[in-house]
Amino acid sequence: MFNKSVSEQKIIGFDRLMVRTTFYLGSLFGLIALIIYFYLNNLANQQVHELALKNAKVYSQVLTEFRSLYTSEVVVKAKSQGMMITHDYKNNRSAIPLPATFSMLLGNTMGDAQSNLSSRLYSEYPFPWREKNGGLKDKFAKDAWQALQAFPHRPFYKFEEYQGKISLRYARADLMRDSCTGCHNSHSDTPKSDWKTGDVAGVLEVIIPIELDLLSANSVIRQTLILLIAILLLSFIGIMSVLIGLNIKREEARNSALETKKVNKRLESEILSRKAVQEKLLEISVTDGLTDVFNRRKFDQEFDLQWRIGRRNQMPLSVIMLDVDHFKAYNDNYGHQGGDKVLIQIAQQGAAQVRRASDLFCRYGGEEFVILLANTNIEGAAILAEKVRAAIENLAIEHQYSSSASVVTVSIGIASLMPCGENSASELIVSADTALYQAKQQGRNRSCIYQPEV
Ligand code: GH3
Ligand code: MG
Ligand code: MG
Repeated sequence: MFNKSVSEQKIIGFDRLMVRTTFYLGSLFGLIALIIYFYLNNLANQQVHELALKNAKVYSQVLTEFRSLYTSEVVVKAKSQGMMITHDYKNNRSAIPLPATFSMLLGNTMGDAQSNLSSRLYSEYPFPWREKNGGLKDKFAKDAWQALQAFPHRPFYKFEEYQGKISLRYARADLMRDSCTGCHNSHSDTPKSDWKTGDVAGVLEVIIPIELDLLSANSVIRQTLILLIAILLLSFIGIMSVLIGLNIKREEARNSALETKKVNKRLESEILSRKAVQEKLLEISVTDGLTDVFNRRKFDQEFDLQWRIGRRNQMPLSVIMLDVDHFKAYNDNYGHQGGDKVLIQIAQQGAAQVRRASDLFCRYGGEEFVILLANTNIEGAAILAEKVRAAIENLAIEHQYSSSASVVTVSIGIASLMPCGENSASELIVSADTALYQAKQQGRNRSCIYQPEV
């Protein structure tokens, strides 16, 4: 019940591969998207910060330059004309504003115009009328004051939340000018009367909120990211469909290879079984159906072959002919079936005496048998013939109707010759037959060697 078929296992294996590939590719693409997002985000933030810094620098420079210009071109001249220079210029018709007062006014006006930008001027030593706004009011102001005291020419800035908005706070030193020193030191309300030219008298701070810029940069990044994710998703789908296609092709190739293998195996076993059938047919075609020893056809084939081998190698070839004595009488008295049994016994006994691989025992026809002995001379053939005759007699098959013995016997004719061109193959068989006839003539149950007449 829990065993899964091979195809099911393949499907599960494929699914696992797909899940794994999806996971790894998805993770890779996700990582790429994340890296690109962080990189772009960082880049955009940097751009926004740099731009804000640049603007702050220009803005603070403009304010400073304007103040210098106002001091040298307006205040000095106005003072020489006896005009009053005071922060409280609005209440005095013949007064003009102090440079610091006027530059703050300009800063505020520009800030209003730009709406996202503002500026402040403050000091550790504010005049009494500015104590409310002009002192060091927060941590940034204190830090900026200290930093600018140490390095007056190096602007001090920070990106931090200011009035609920992420902003750039950019501070540069407001240095005591030569034209201002006397006035500051001699003023009746001055909080400090030992100013020297070049002293850091105040901090000019420019505040630029960057939150909106950051938001718009982020929105651009978000859109870029959506585009990127879409591209990655399409690539992912493309890669997955190519992978699926490849896998299907691989499966098809594997299936067709398996099919070919199966067909080959079937063909192979068919060839083998046909071969076996052919061999069996061949065996049947050279086997005698009754006695199961070789038949006349086999004898003829083998005789032809051994004749040629003997002629080429100059080796003697011998033939032994056997004929059952008084077999007609046996059949007549013991029945034809009994006769068949005797033929089987004689064939098996005779074949058992022939041991050499090249020797051949065959049923020649009826109650006659023949033995072909390759590379055997007449003496060897005579010994084997006698052995076969005795073995058959020793079977002791009762034959009351034989005039030559009380048991079934055989008569044997033996002939041998050296195969050569002059004597024909059939001559050897005729000779063996002649010798067999002689054995019959001489009283049966014996073997006779063919003696050629001189
Ligand atoms: P001889 O001693 O002179 O050889 O006498 P014989 O009777 O053996 O010879 P004959 O040629 O007169 O008879 C041969 C007999 O062998 C005749 C035939 O019925 C019998 N025979 C031949 N083939 C078979 C066979 O396959 N089965 C049986 N049972 N008898 C066979
Ligand atoms: Mg006969
Ligand atoms: Mg006979």
